[in-house]
Amino acid sequence: MALLITPDCISCGACVPECPNEAIFENRGDAEAKGYHVGDNQGDYVIVHDRCTECVGHFDEPQCAAVCPVDNCCIADPTYPETVAVLLAKATLLNPEKVIDPSKVWKDVRDS
Ligand code: SF4
Repeated sequence: MALLITPDCISCGACVPECPNEAIFENRGDAEAKGYHVGDNQGDYVIVHDRCTECVGHFDEPQCAAVCPVDNCCIADPTYPETVAVLLAKATLLNPEKVIDPSKVWKDVRDS
């Protein structure tokens, strides 16, 4: 599943440069104008499902959540569960120039 950014977001922007998949946008309109899908219940900043891999393939934990100064602001979106295999495939497709490491998987992937 992708993560989402809750309405508790303070729009600090710390997460944007940390995302390995360029999945975070400053607002819903910018994301949707590029054709990306934005789930419900997000704040001003949003994460698009098309590009978020939960950082699988890149890091051991979601980088947006790691750098966010607000507790529980970047959280798993329960509406869009995806398996590790799907997330790895997405990471590979989005990043043909990068090495995708299948050992980089965070503990809360809902692999079902
Ligand atoms: Fe980007 Fe990773 Fe956050 Fe998804 S979990 S939005 S890939 S930083």
